[in-house]
This record gives sequence, structure tokens and C-alpha cells, in this order.
Amino acid sequence: MISTASATRIATWLQEATQAIIFTGAGMSTESGIPDFRSPDGIWSKFRTVYYDEFMANADARQEYWRQKSISHSEFAQAVPNAGHQVIARWQHEQTIRAVITQNIDGLHQLAGNQDPLELHGTARQILCQDCGARYAAEPLVAEFLRTDVVPSCAACTDGRLKHATISFGQSLAGDVLERAVSWCQEADLLLAIGSSLVVSPAADLPALTKQQGGRLVIINRDPTPLDGLADEVVHESIGETLLAIAASHARKIFSALRPR
Ligand SMILES: [Zn+2]
Repeated sequence: MISTASATRIATWLQEATQAIIFTGAGMSTESGIPDFRSPDGIWSKFRTVYYDEFMANADARQEYWRQKSISHSEFAQAVPNAGHQVIARWQHEQTIRAVITQNIDGLHQLAGNQDPLELHGTARQILCQDCGARYAAEPLVAEFLRTDVVPSCAACTDGRLKHATISFGQSLAGDVLERAVSWCQEADLLLAIGSSLVVSPAADLPALTKQQGGRLVIINRDPTPLDGLADEVVHESIGETLLAIAASHARKIFSALRPR
């Protein structure tokens, strides 16, 4: 459990900040029952990695990709936002924070009510045609694949290659998304990095930008991260409980600031 002193300190910084950014990783969603796909016992360790170039070049690779993604799809299709997602959505609604940047592809921030989180690795809730750019809801196409075992093709351009709208292994992050993330992190006076192991570049370099520009950095993650030494506050506890404690402390501050003297 986060100490009262620590929760109060972070709540004070939140109250002072005008450009606070929330940066989330896989740990944010594990409390919704979504496994960390990239962890050593995660789903990808059991599968052959299909790299982006291979997906584009080879129909067998596309078949293998769809087989794997259809299995992992069921892991998050039923998941619902947890207490931590709800706190973050409320902070955005109240303009306590400026925006959310996430490494997650599960769409749970949106389901909690966050508008337009910046999704560094894209979203698994949509399918994107790699040839014409048409987008489709993932659910019906995954269901079709599970029923027929045939890789779906694009209705808009007839045989376009359809892939989840996520960043695959060997594929670069979208330039405009990364640019926006960099400027938000540079402009932030407070960055809360939540549930990210902060090891996968370039996403892992973003929180350091806030420190370089003189902002404060808070890290909330179950395990230590390479940036812990740089942070103003580090919490190695459950994310949901920690955010609820900070939110309670923050709400008390707002309330006492409003109370007539
Ligand atoms: Zn197409």
C-alpha cells in the first residue's frame, strides 16, 4: 500500500501541474486480467514471431499472424477497465491532466471514458488495410477468421492485406504519433509513468524527456524500472489501489481549497 506521505506528495504535484501527462504500459491492464504479452511467460513466448516484412511478403505468414492474433484477441475482448483506468478518465474529464499516452493496444482507456489517448502501438480494436488504409472493427473479422480459418481481405480494395491496426514486430512507430508524444512529454510539468517497465525504446525514453525539461516524474510500477533513479517519486505497489489513494488525497485538497475560510 502506498504511504499517505507519498500519496499526498503526488496529489500536491497533480494539483500544481497544468500540463500533466499520464503514460501507461502493460501493467495498467494486468489488473483487468489482460496478460502482459511481452513478458517471459506471456503469449508471444509460445508463438513464432511474425515480423512485419514477412507479413507483407508472404501469405503463410499472414495466416500464422491471424491465427496468433485471434487467440490473443479473446484475452482482451472480455476485459473491462479497472479502478486505475476509471481514476485516469476522471482526471482527464476534470482537466487535472492534459492527456494520456499509452503503450497498450487494448482500448481500455477509451472504454473507461478517456477521449483520444495517444496509442503509441496502435489499437487491436481495429483492423487496418496495409494497402489502401481502410479501417474496420476488429471483432467481426476475428470472428470470421475463427469460423472459416481464412484470412479476411479488404472489401474496399478487394485483395488488400488486412492486419490489426497495431505496430507489429519489426514495424516502426507512426511518425506523427511519436512526434506528438515527444512534444507532450517535453511540455509536461508532471509525468506519471504507470505500469510500464520502461525498457522498450523509443516509448521508454519519453518519460525522461519530461525530466530533461525540468518537469517532475513519478513512476508507479509493480517492479523496478531503469528510470527509477531519475524519478521524483517511485511506487512499487498495485496500480489501482495506488491511483485510488492519490485520487482521494487529490480530491481532499480540491475540497479544502474550495471551502470558504
Ligand atoms: Zn484495402
